Amino acid sequence: MATLNSSSDQNLEPAAASDFIRDIVTEDIKTNKHGGKVITRFPPEPNGYLHIGHAKSICLNFGIAQENQGGICHLRFDDTNPTREDVEYVDSIQEDVRWLGFDWGNNMFYASDYFEKLYYYAVELIKLGKAYVCDLSGEEMIAYRGAPSIPGKESPYRNRSVDENLDLFARMRAGEFADGAKTLRALIDMTSPNIHMRDPALYRIRKFEHHRTGNAWCIYPMYDYAHCLSDSIERITHSICTLEFEVHRPLYDWILEQLSVPRPNPRQIEFARLNLSYTVMSKRKLLQLVQEGLVVGWDDPRMPTVAGLRRRGFTPEAIRHFCRRIGVTKFNGLTDVALLEHSLREDLNKRANRVMAVLRPIKVVIENYPESQVEQLEAVNNPEDSTAGTRKIPFSRVIYIEQDDFMEVPPKKFFRLSPGNEVRLRYAYILKCVSVVKNELGQVAELRCTIDPNSKSGGTTAGRKVKATIHWVSAAHALNSEVRLYDRLFTVEQPDAEGRDFKEFMNSKSLEVLTGCKLEPSLANANPEVRYQFERLGYFRADPKDSKANSLVFNRTVTLRDAWAKEQGH
Ligand code: ATP
Ligand code: MG
Repeated sequence: MATLNSSSDQNLEPAAASDFIRDIVTEDIKTNKHGGKVITRFPPEPNGYLHIGHAKSICLNFGIAQENQGGICHLRFDDTNPTREDVEYVDSIQEDVRWLGFDWGNNMFYASDYFEKLYYYAVELIKLGKAYVCDLSGEEMIAYRGAPSIPGKESPYRNRSVDENLDLFARMRAGEFADGAKTLRALIDMTSPNIHMRDPALYRIRKFEHHRTGNAWCIYPMYDYAHCLSDSIERITHSICTLEFEVHRPLYDWILEQLSVPRPNPRQIEFARLNLSYTVMSKRKLLQLVQEGLVVGWDDPRMPTVAGLRRRGFTPEAIRHFCRRIGVTKFNGLTDVALLEHSLREDLNKRANRVMAVLRPIKVVIENYPESQVEQLEAVNNPEDSTAGTRKIPFSRVIYIEQDDFMEVPPKKFFRLSPGNEVRLRYAYILKCVSVVKNELGQVAELRCTIDPNSKSGGTTAGRKVKATIHWVSAAHALNSEVRLYDRLFTVEQPDAEGRDFKEFMNSKSLEVLTGCKLEPSLANANPEVRYQFERLGYFRADPKDSKANSLVFNRTVTLRDAWAKEQGH
């Protein structure tokens, strides 16, 4: 069987269909714009764990690099805001990108490595008369900025001389001024219809220790200033980002145009971010869930983080396939989480071995089966994969079946087990319920049954048809396990739609913990890296953190019912 985590088959995956970004890249190669080179980058800020939206950006940036000969994708930590960043995030981001199947080789960078260069570019801007030190407070700056339809007002500090600006900027760096007392601003146009061009801040004072540069700096570059220059320093050819940055593009271009940086400049291209139904995706909101204990951590299997999806049992292949499927467009929309689950089922259906597990057991005693007898029945591991082989599963006098598969007083269309009725036990015999044993509360405690001894594979009545087949586990051989059933974290499609507080829409039933579940013995050494289909129940994997040899814990990765395929009429 193919191992479910190998990403070695990555190159066998079809290249993504073309899209407007890939068309631009192809055209630029044709015209030799960047000497035929393709260098993209994935630039996360290390202020949280990566989520499925980042996976879309990763697949796009690394994908484009892979698809073009000699293409390179950099991993760049955009670590210019020390107050929110942490090495924990730097580590998790690397782990997640690698797990998704991508490799940056030697091309890992930190924007903070460019602080000195960025400082000198700022000095260059000042010397060109294109930047000035401003003493307006944050609130004053907002008031002076105006609104899209109201022109802004020029700062009274706008006409400082180059020498005065150079002196003040050097003293900002030296730590002479308090946080917020001064900023370095670009000198552009306070009447521009684009607010981002109204003398945007380039540097601010922040006396805060940085996770890499420590206390070497007390001024930090703003995103718009640091990003275009980091791209330029790394000779990025295509700087791909999400649509919100479209209005920042004139500033991106403006900064590079003023400076003596190598040409041609990188080109910023925007695409629609991924929004997924029944979840929230901003790191800020995900951090809130973690900090307020509403989930067990960034890797809670209900989280849309890469770490959460991984722990739940998603495969990198399924995520990559999902990203190819949703494609790249310029229109913001909401993607149905059912499509993500559909991609996962498609992958697991091909590769996950089938096993039997009973989650809510009820005991069945087979009265006509000898007490000491144990048969080893042959079971098919994966009907979708002929190379997956078979295994033996023990059958004996006492077995467990699902409580749901029995009804004492069945309604008309109930074809599973009921008194006097027959079902087939998967891989085994036809079973008939002859009586019901109740406890002192009057609840069904145990079923007394018989089997048709000739009805198993090879027997004279093996072909006899009954209406339902159910799964089971031999009681004497069963392994006990805890099983965690996960559902959507939120009850509405867009928990963070405008005017909503997303935390009011948390699904109180998003986690159900079942104990005393019974598993077939082949799962004794279940490796968390291996996913299984529990027949009739869904796909499961041992929890990589909590499952131990003598206290198994399984996560339900996804159920079998495919809402997406159903909606598409499959
Ligand atoms: P968040 O708002 O969740 O914090 P972010 O955009 O601030 O996300 P960054 O770490 O700055 O997070 O993002 C790194 C890269 O991932 C950026 O290029 C960004 O455009 C991209 N990205 C982030 N969220 C999404 C998304 N939902 N869909 C596609 N790409 C995304
Ligand atoms: Mg961000």
